[in-house]
Amino acid sequence: MVNPKDFRKAVREPDLRADYVSQFGIVKPPYVDVVAYASPADFQALKQRFGIAPAPGSIAKTYALDLEGLTNGSHSEVYICDPFFDMLQGKPSKLLDINGLIRENTIKNHEFEHARHYHKGIDDYPLARFRVEDGQVNRLLFGAVSELFAYKSEADGLRSIKRLQGGYVQQVIPGLLREAMIYYDWLFDARVTKGADPELVKELREKLDPTRFIGF
Ligand SMILES: [Zn+2]
Repeated sequence: MVNPKDFRKAVREPDLRADYVSQFGIVKPPYVDVVAYASPADFQALKQRFGIAPAPGSIAKTYALDLEGLTNGSHSEVYICDPFFDMLQGKPSKLLDINGLIRENTIKNHEFEHARHYHKGIDDYPLARFRVEDGQVNRLLFGAVSELFAYKSEADGLRSIKRLQGGYVQQVIPGLLREAMIYYDWLFDARVTKGADPELVKELREKLDPTRFIGF
């Protein structure tokens, strides 16, 4: 378990963020090679390695290391960015401890869930289903489905944390649903579904509607 007191300190003192983040090294699954703090100064290097930097405002990003081995053994690296901490600047200690649990859950049950998808696939949706006519993988569609499953896993994780019962979970879930809805909307975007099996798209639209799939 990551020490909530260290989260509190890391919010207040950016110098302590890398140390706090290194604690995830103990709880990471074996197919996550690295969990590290990435300051804006590190973004250029990430962009060079992976072709894309973490989006501005995002709290964390998980990169598959082996796109050829996607869902077939790829390992991942997870980077935690400043908004993970900065959105909580100025909050009292008790609230920081609670939010430390919520943030820790995001890494363990959302980011590590992406890593699990990259390693062994998305339950019920093997990579073959995302192939389009020329045999390429529709990565946008795979990404959207991975997000929807990651949000579900994150919501389920929150519901399982005893200390968050009685108010906090109910405050956080609507935000997760809003974020998940962005990816659900992708399933209706022709640029995302281009070349995909219409049966798959139909099934995804039916089954992954966040209000039912993730629930309140
Ligand atoms: Zn995600």
